[in-house]
Amino acid sequence: MTDQQPLPTSPQPLPGPLRIAPYVGGKATVGGVNRVVKLSSNENPYGASPAAIDAFRETGDQLALYPDGGATALREAIGKAEGLDPARIVCGAGSDEILSLLCLAYAGPGDEVMHSAHGFLMYRLSALAVGAEPVSIPEQNLTADIDAMIAAANERTKIVFLANPNNPTGTMIADSEIRRLRDGLPAHTLLVIDAAYAEYVEDPDYEPGARLVEEREDTVMTRTFSKIHGLAALRLGWGYGPASVIDALNRVRGPFNVSAPALAAGTKAIADDAFIKQAREGNAVERARVADALERLGFSVTPSQGNFVLAEFGTNGPRSAENADTFLQKRGILIRRMEGYGLPAHLRISIGTTEENGLLLAALEDFVAP
Ligand SMILES: *Cc1c(COP(=O)(O)O)cnc(C)c1O
Repeated sequence: MTDQQPLPTSPQPLPGPLRIAPYVGGKATVGGVNRVVKLSSNENPYGASPAAIDAFRETGDQLALYPDGGATALREAIGKAEGLDPARIVCGAGSDEILSLLCLAYAGPGDEVMHSAHGFLMYRLSALAVGAEPVSIPEQNLTADIDAMIAAANERTKIVFLANPNNPTGTMIADSEIRRLRDGLPAHTLLVIDAAYAEYVEDPDYEPGARLVEEREDTVMTRTFSKIHGLAALRLGWGYGPASVIDALNRVRGPFNVSAPALAAGTKAIADDAFIKQAREGNAVERARVADALERLGFSVTPSQGNFVLAEFGTNGPRSAENADTFLQKRGILIRRMEGYGLPAHLRISIGTTEENGLLLAALEDFVAP
């Protein structure tokens, strides 16, 4: 007989969830300011596809009905737009849900979930939620270090998460390096390529991950409708993977995990080539303009393939990141502080419309003025 532990006097959460510092999103309001320029959450400054908005509105007449739990029309629309097999797509309430489901299905207590040091914060949170141990691998030049990731992988490594391009750094890993990572990881390790910003990439050496998924049984690509498709409010994302992974995710997901309005809007958004093209081109022009202007003002900018830039302001002196944030907030301009990502000297600035970026740059000129 072993001694019985006394039972707790109240329900106790598991230790993993208690280690989570809840995700803090970008600010959306400032007291006393009428017009807010929100450049803090990498949202689409051009809104969403008009066809998607119409489809969303039409679902208002049918809110009493459950959605299609198989997301059939949406998966077919994604397959057609992206040249992928709809049977190997799974949809979720944001790609955040897909990341969580991957942890739920593939990792637990005693397992490791790897991510790069300045990788997207949700990887750590999703790992902790299932009791797995997040392992952070130092980067080189604000870019994931492929050799270090390969060297750190071991028998406990169940998932490697890699955002490509990465948020918040904006840096990208070339297709050949992604393949080298995959070849260097153990066969039992699932590689998850989070391509949330794929549509914004201009570098010809980029591949979102779909080709690798199709060649292997151990790699998944995730995508989102929150960025170029401008549907962040609806919470819609998807994953593309081998049949075995999609099957596992379909077992652990809720039967109606994607709402009918999200399904309807997403089906139209993914097919609206004109809207996507305009958003991509607008971002490319404005990203270059904002980056150049920041450099001219003396702030170094990490080359970005996303719809945001990471700029270095420093931690001390009048031009610090903290002072810049306070100054911009008084003007109603919201950007993202980076302490949570271990980058206290940096600010992440989402690319807005031409007008919004003009307001940002004018404010920063005043900020640096003697
Ligand atoms: C914005 C973002 C996502 C998308 O999250 P959703 O849950 O789909 O809104 C995923 N990964 C990264 C790296 C992101 O920046």
